[in-house]
Amino acid sequence: MPTQPRSPQTSHPLSRRQFLAAQLALPLGVAATLRAASPTAAPTPATSSKLKIDRIETFPVRYPMTGYFKFFAGPSGEAGRAAVILKVTANDGTVGWGESVPLPTWSDETLETAVVALNRYLIPALIGADPTDFAGAHRRLDAAIAPAFSTAMPITRAGLDIALHDLAGKASGQSLHQLWGRPRGAPLTLSWTVNARTLDEVEPLVAEGRRRGYRHFNIKVAPDLEFDVALSRRVRALAPEAFLWADANCGYDPATALAAAPRLAAVGVDVLEAPVRPNRLSTYQELKKQGALPIYMDEGIVSPVELAEFIRLGMLDGVAEKPSRCGGLWSCRQQIELLQSKGLAFLGSGLTDPDISLAATLALYAAYGLKKPAALNGPQFLTSSVLKQPLTVVNGTLAVPNGPGLGIEVDEAKVRALAARS
Ligand SMILES: [Mg+2]
Repeated sequence: MPTQPRSPQTSHPLSRRQFLAAQLALPLGVAATLRAASPTAAPTPATSSKLKIDRIETFPVRYPMTGYFKFFAGPSGEAGRAAVILKVTANDGTVGWGESVPLPTWSDETLETAVVALNRYLIPALIGADPTDFAGAHRRLDAAIAPAFSTAMPITRAGLDIALHDLAGKASGQSLHQLWGRPRGAPLTLSWTVNARTLDEVEPLVAEGRRRGYRHFNIKVAPDLEFDVALSRRVRALAPEAFLWADANCGYDPATALAAAPRLAAVGVDVLEAPVRPNRLSTYQELKKQGALPIYMDEGIVSPVELAEFIRLGMLDGVAEKPSRCGGLWSCRQQIELLQSKGLAFLGSGLTDPDISLAATLALYAAYGLKKPAALNGPQFLTSSVLKQPLTVVNGTLAVPNGPGLGIEVDEAKVRALAARS
């Protein structure tokens, strides 16, 4: 008879909490490799943690907003920032919270498709799974909705991934950085989003950011390069010391993008993000070769696989990361580690993330030592919170919540009230 993996509770001097902590601190890929190579040496979490996902509840909501941001200007956006709040409950009663943040003006995922995919496909695939086995959970999700070019429905999936991280942290009594064996990291400096429709709007928008303690600015550019040059010049004049980050959201055609990089550099822009759509591989190569500005990708980087390919193809200087775009923390963490191993940079970005998604993002960026101001503009545009203690910007910075899992306390009554209002 082959030797069965022994239960840590009978063979191991560690408590379940200590054992889970040791399992979860293993570097990415190491636990899986160990399991594959020697199942008796490293019992799988499935046989060791005894935790199982018992049920997952979905709460579709829309967070009320303030200010103008083009992605929320349409008929659906005006109703507020859509999200599906997820509550995962394990068989021992431990709860993890997550949040999917679909945005149809930015990607091909909507609130409605997220709800259907979660309830009909993704959630059933996770029932009975070990919530601490992130790789196993993602395999189940891949089997439920297959990848196309890359991971399917990554924004929808990210909410589940975040909830599993919260649950695993609470089960082991660790915050996310401890799960990852990383430092907690310092509070993150934020970047204020300037989405000006006319040049007259620029000064009051920058002033509003400054009034709220921000010193760094990210500007929305494309498709009109003449406007973008004037906008960039004006923001640079108003904020000479700022990190000035231009995001085109894939809005230039290839020729305009190649003209834009040197002209934006000349008026003081520091980095250019997503000048063209990610399927314009050769344009990214030309922009990188041109070298007028550091080129960051965002849209289209979903799994670490295409990121590794795009790096090999010489398409980028770095990535504006966002766990929501990547299918969650599991994938985003691997991407940051890949970038760092190649000497490339990551910027911290988001999808106007509300509380729960924002808390996960903060923990990730701080643990990995984000250097530049983060374009996390949930606190700029969202006016509602479902937390007992909302995350608060202090002098243009946000601290990483401290405590097991995400370190936040979700107020379920607020979740239910927001869902009812939505
Ligand atoms: Mg972007």
